[in-house]
Amino acid sequence: MNPKVVAIVGAGPAGLFAAKTLAEKDVRVALFNRDIRPGGLAEYGIYPEKHVLKNGLRRQFTSFLEHKNIAYFGNIEVGEGKDLSLPQLENMGFQGILVTAGAQKIKELKVEGESLPRVYHAWEIVSKYNNLPPYSQIEFPIGEKVVIVGVGNVMADVARYLIQKGGVKEITAVARRGPAEIKFHETEFAHIAQNLDLSDFEAEMERVTPLMLKLGQDPNETWAFIEKACENCEEKTGDTNFRLRFLKSPVRFWGDEHRGLQGVECIENSLVEENHVMKTIPTALHTIFDADTAILAVGSSVDDGIGLPVSKDQFTISPYPDYPQDGISYELMDPDSGANISGVFVAGWSRLASYGLVGISGKDGSRGAQALFEFIQDGDGEKPDWELLQSQIRNLKKEIVDKKMIGQLYKAEAEIAAKNGLAEYKFPTNQEMLTAIGLV
Ligand SMILES: Cc1cc2nc3c(=O)[nH]c(=O)nc-3n(C[C@H](O)[C@H](O)[C@H](O)COP(=O)(O)OP(=O)(O)OC[C@H]3O[C@@H](n4cnc5c(N)ncnc54)[C@H](O)[C@@H]3O)c2cc1C
Repeated sequence: MNPKVVAIVGAGPAGLFAAKTLAEKDVRVALFNRDIRPGGLAEYGIYPEKHVLKNGLRRQFTSFLEHKNIAYFGNIEVGEGKDLSLPQLENMGFQGILVTAGAQKIKELKVEGESLPRVYHAWEIVSKYNNLPPYSQIEFPIGEKVVIVGVGNVMADVARYLIQKGGVKEITAVARRGPAEIKFHETEFAHIAQNLDLSDFEAEMERVTPLMLKLGQDPNETWAFIEKACENCEEKTGDTNFRLRFLKSPVRFWGDEHRGLQGVECIENSLVEENHVMKTIPTALHTIFDADTAILAVGSSVDDGIGLPVSKDQFTISPYPDYPQDGISYELMDPDSGANISGVFVAGWSRLASYGLVGISGKDGSRGAQALFEFIQDGDGEKPDWELLQSQIRNLKKEIVDKKMIGQLYKAEAEIAAKNGLAEYKFPTNQEMLTAIGLV
């Protein structure tokens, strides 16, 4: 009897954990990945200097891929008009599909001036410093006065990069809400805490303290958090002045095509608590920050080009799943008919955009895989021939990277790193990667 056969789209942490879960249940898994190398944001998002974490994850993912039930197809993008579409996968005979393609599309603020020169999305900067093709080949000029919109861990990573890179005099991170709602972790902030302008921070805390007290929040907790990060901070690497501004939302990026960005206009917010959620209320006050560069670190969106319904930066998750896992839905709803889309599941950042670290995404991938597994157990359709399916895919007119080649790629990169005394080396273009593994 042929075993069941499924497709997973995206080999980030969610897709890799999902593939492992299904392979161990004797399901054959075709794992498609747009990038040549597996790992998703574990390779191309996590800060480059976190070598221990990145190497550990790389080793773990390599061991997952070794499972005989997993076939890896790197350098294959799935979507409408791409290398393969979801309907094509269904027609090939896959009995179910799990989409774990992350949330890899730029999320726009939809604010005037957002397309001016030197207004970037954090995604572009992070991809650049992590050597993700094609961003690795694009120049993103950075000026001296940078405004970062958002106060999560990605903001902390981008600020860390700008401080280390040098040449930036001032970074102002702008938060929609107040000090009690900051999203970055102390460990991430510790990398930039040495550059925090403490007297400026004190003045900003003084300004927002009356509202915090009115909301029942304790400003001392913010101080304790910042002091702890400062205690554990690194040695100062540059003289960039880092500032935090609270209760502000950008409403306009000032400048012109010729001179690029000149300033960021923000509206002042107040806050009110509704159903345990802190909601912003815009006031009539405006502030303009003098800035020549703005970086939007406000999360990202799922890709509507994959061919699944999207609403407000997320796939339309069904509120009535047929195969819920721990009360969570991994299924999609057709917004026109209101019916569940049969046979297609989502997990990881594709289920909840920009939510959670690798551990959370991996666990979500495993749960999504379990939902898909329950679905295929219910089906009694024809099971395709696994070998035939694989050769059909290999016949695509594209350089397809398999798991053996990934081993060769890592080896080639490790040799270059050793030769040049580097902690890590990553080829910055697809062409170089394909050449190193002998595909071109
Ligand atoms: C800047 C940044 C820093 C981070 N730092 C940390 C950290 O220090 N520690 C930590 O634990 N977590 C960190 N995270 C979070 C972590 O990276 C995520 O939790 C995790 O990578 C999400 O996993 P995922 O598999 O859902 O998506 P992703 O990691 O985004 O993987 C998606 C995969 O799908 C592929 N793909 C996309 N579209 C297609 C398509 N159409 N067809 C085929 N394949 C496709 C991509 O090539 C990619 O391999 C960070 C995230 C960011 C953005």
